[in-house]
Formats: sequence, C-alpha cells, structure tokens
Amino acid sequence: MSDVSGSELRALMARVPSVEKVMASAEFAALISEYGRTQVLDTVRAALDAWRASAQAGGASVGALDSRQLHATVEAVLRRRNESRLRSVFNLTGTVLHTNLGRALLPDEAVQAVMKALTQPANLEFDLGTGKRGDRDDLIDELICELTGAEAATVVNNNAAAVLLTLSALASKKEVVVSRGELVEIGGAFRIPDIMSRAGARLREVGTTNRTHLKDYDDAIGPQTALLMKVHASNYAIHGFTKEVGLDEIAPLAHARGLAVVVDLGSGTLVDLSQWGLPREPTVRETVEAGADLVTFSGDKLLGGPQAGLIVGRRDLIAKIKKHPLKRALRVGKLTLAALEPVLQLYRAPEKLVERLTTLRLLTRPTDDIRLAAERVQPALQRAVGEQYAVLAEPMFSQIGSGALPVDVLPSYGLVVRMADGKRGGRHLLTLEKLLREMARPVIGRIADDALRLDLRCLEAADEAQLIGQLLERPKDTHA
Ligand SMILES: *Cc1c(COP(=O)(O)O)cnc(C)c1O
Repeated sequence: MSDVSGSELRALMARVPSVEKVMASAEFAALISEYGRTQVLDTVRAALDAWRASAQAGGASVGALDSRQLHATVEAVLRRRNESRLRSVFNLTGTVLHTNLGRALLPDEAVQAVMKALTQPANLEFDLGTGKRGDRDDLIDELICELTGAEAATVVNNNAAAVLLTLSALASKKEVVVSRGELVEIGGAFRIPDIMSRAGARLREVGTTNRTHLKDYDDAIGPQTALLMKVHASNYAIHGFTKEVGLDEIAPLAHARGLAVVVDLGSGTLVDLSQWGLPREPTVRETVEAGADLVTFSGDKLLGGPQAGLIVGRRDLIAKIKKHPLKRALRVGKLTLAALEPVLQLYRAPEKLVERLTTLRLLTRPTDDIRLAAERVQPALQRAVGEQYAVLAEPMFSQIGSGALPVDVLPSYGLVVRMADGKRGGRHLLTLEKLLREMARPVIGRIADDALRLDLRCLEAADEAQLIGQLLERPKDTHA
C-alpha cells in the first residue's frame, strides 16, 4: 500500500473505535471474563495506542483498524503475559540431579501431600494431643531419627542454611578446624570460608590441599576451638599423593578434647547405593555411627525429596541450634514438610525404593530401556531437525549431579545430532540447540564434541510421548 495522505490518516483515525466501545463488544466479553476487566482494558488501550502511533509514524501499509486483528493481538498479549515463567522442560542434559533444572523430581505420594497441605488447614505447629502450640519439627524428627540412627533432628531451608545455622549456633566468635582439602565451593555461591565468616566463626585451616594428617587437627586445637568440621568434597576429587583423615580418627580426637565434630555430608544418602550398582557414598547413618556429633545434608539431592537442609545428631546440640534466632529465619514451610515426610517414609521399604523413589529410579534405569527410548524418539527428532542433520542413537554417560559422586558416570543412551555431510556443526548446532530450547516445552540438551547430545535417561514414558508429539508438530516458535 502506498503512503497515506494527511486527510486519509485523519479519516483512519476517526474510524478507530473508542476503548469503551471495544470493551463493550461481544467478542471481548470472553476475554474480560477470563482475565478480568483491568488487564483487558490496559491491553486494549496499549494496542490502540500502538496502532495510532504506527499509523502516524509510518503511514505506509496502514489499513483501517481490523477489529478481528485487534482481538487476536489483545488475546495473544494477555496469554503470553499470564503464562508461568516457571516452565516444565525436558531434562535431556544427562545430569539427573540438575541444580538449574530443579534437582530431585518428587514421587506422587509427595505431590498428593503437598496438594493437601496447600488446600486444607493442617497441624503445622499445633499439638493435637494437648490442643496447644506445637513445633513443626515434631512432625518429622522421629522419622528422620529412625532412618539415620540420630538422637535428634531439625529441618531448615537447604543444606547451606543448615551449615550456616549450625556454625552460628555452635561456633560464633570461635574457631572451627577444617582441612585445606575440604574448603570447597559448591555452585559458586556456597563456599565454606564465606559461610564460616557469615556465621561469625573463624576458620582454622589445617593440612595442605592434598594431604592432612590427624596431627594437623591435634595441633590446631586450642582454647578458642569450638568444632572440628569435615566437608564432603562434593564436586571434585583429588588423586595421587593424598591423605584425608577419616571420621573414625577425627571423632575420637575431638571427643577426647571435649569438642564436637560436624560433618557437612552434602548429598547425604540414607541407603547404600552400591546395592544398585551405583557408586558408594557414606550414608548419614554410617556417619552418625562413625562418631559425627552433627551431620547436615540436602533434601533434594540423592535423598530425592524437596529442597531442604536436614541437621541430625546429638540432642543437646540440636536443642541449641533450634533455639538460635536464625532457625526462625531459615525454617521450612508446610509444603516442604508435607513433601519430605512421604519421601522419607519410602525408605522404610528399601526393596521398593527403586520403583517408588523417582530419583533412584532414574539413576538405576537400565541402559537397554534408555536405548529403546532413544530408538523410538530418533525418527521424530530426525524429522524435526531435517535432512541437514544426522540423528543417531548412541551410548553416552549420564551424571548423578548436584555434587553427588562427581567423578562417577552412569552408562546411558541418547540421541546425537551432527551435520549430515560430516562437516563441523559449529554455529548450526548452536542454532539447533536454541530452537529446541524455544519449543513449547523446552528441550534441554548439551553440546559436546561438535555434536548436540540428548541423554534420554530422564525421559520416562509419559514425557517420551509428549516429546515425540512436540517434535512431530510443525515447528513453530511460541515464545519468540
Ligand atoms: C550441595 C552441598 C551444599 C549445599 O546444599 P544446598 O542444599 O544446595 O544448600 C553444601 N555442602 C555440600 C558439601 C554440598 O554438596
């Protein structure tokens, strides 16, 4: 269309309906009923303003305002605006406990319990026996003690909070002895030296990066010492000429000097994973039995529950921790407790755990099963990406993730996308990775060795069907 003259423009403007008239029209009634008058009004106003502005500015190719077009625009804006920013994705990264993708997926028992806690009042801090005020830890501490062999327990927001609270309550203005080999950083924001200073405790480093001896701990103990601490080297391993002092040696030393030992176990598994062919990790119970006075661990790593930090150990120390003001600031909500209890209860039937605990089921999923999934998804992915790419089902390795067992990998299977002509993928693969990430339910893979890799370990049946369906739809970008 050619340029619009001044008089044509005035005529166009005059025909633009008023906001009131648009709002009163039959076709907008449904939008108002769904989204409410306020935001429909704002969106209509913005759409009309935008139309006027473009008519005035360009003039070119401006036709009369189309009311169907206006409705479609307003509806699209409202829909996008009201979509959740927290979206379901397909975790095909190969990392089962992926911190950036929300870590452990919860079993249905936990989901049901959360739903109830969300919609019905509950005895969160109400003692049904006495009718008086209760303590939210009472809902869960017996179960935690049963599963860990500890005397007492308390739950806070996450393991970082558990460590911060423990050090604040027990070591403020005092020294905590830690091996230099254990001064870890986890995910950038959690560093043992930083947490230590936040808690008002002084870090007393002993030993060297690769070797620490019992004598190093012994020499460091003085009148200012509050605790000896061991930290699980969650996300790295030191090989070669190394020496770490075990809890079996540190605990007797600490106790002989009248001190307590705190262990930050990181992932903190409740069962011996080697029975399912997974790498061995010290369990919380073993750590308590080896003499730890307190053990802290995460709820959403290997344990397979909601985000939480569990502190277990000596009754007197837990009582002191619970009295600290930070406990109130770091406490968990009812949704966390609702989800944690049924997950912990699953551990009472260890023989059913692989089937029922989602995290463990994914970690132990047979490679053949994953291979069959890869073969079923392959044609859909090949069709979706086009002939320019070659999609092959190939063996690969998954990781447990979240700092658990960092150097161990699990044999898996997945789809590998390369250039069909054998040339380097480079930017093409980056573009493809982005397209998958922008799908209605984003597909998250990884690029390595000049190939896009989608590990199918975490793609269980219902998700598999959804992924295939999404890949076979005509590719369209709904979230540009
Ligand atoms: C993961 C981890 C933490 C942090 O736990 P969050 O639950 O993520 O707060 C602390 N210490 C160790 C050793 C860990 O592995």
